[in-house]
Amino acid sequence: MKKVPIRSCLICNEKSDKRALYRIVKNKEGQVFFDPTLRANGRGAYVCEKESCIEKLKDSKRLDKAFQADIDIEDKEKIVREIMENKK
Ligand SMILES: [Zn+2]
Repeated sequence: MKKVPIRSCLICNEKSDKRALYRIVKNKEGQVFFDPTLRANGRGAYVCEKESCIEKLKDSKRLDKAFQADIDIEDKEKIVREIMENKK
């Protein structure tokens, strides 16, 4: 039987099947973006489907910590916007 990959939400730490989460990636070039395909190359971080968690990505430092980088507020706002537009 194939194991379902489990990941936790950056904000609330709740664990879910990774396909139920939204993936954010930092690639080799240091760009941070929302990855709707779940397959982009780079280091991934996940956020759950709760709007409160998605919105908090903007204000919290969790994303910066996960990627060990200072992420521009513009990039964070773009990620939040794109996740909201892609909501399942
Ligand atoms: Zn969450």
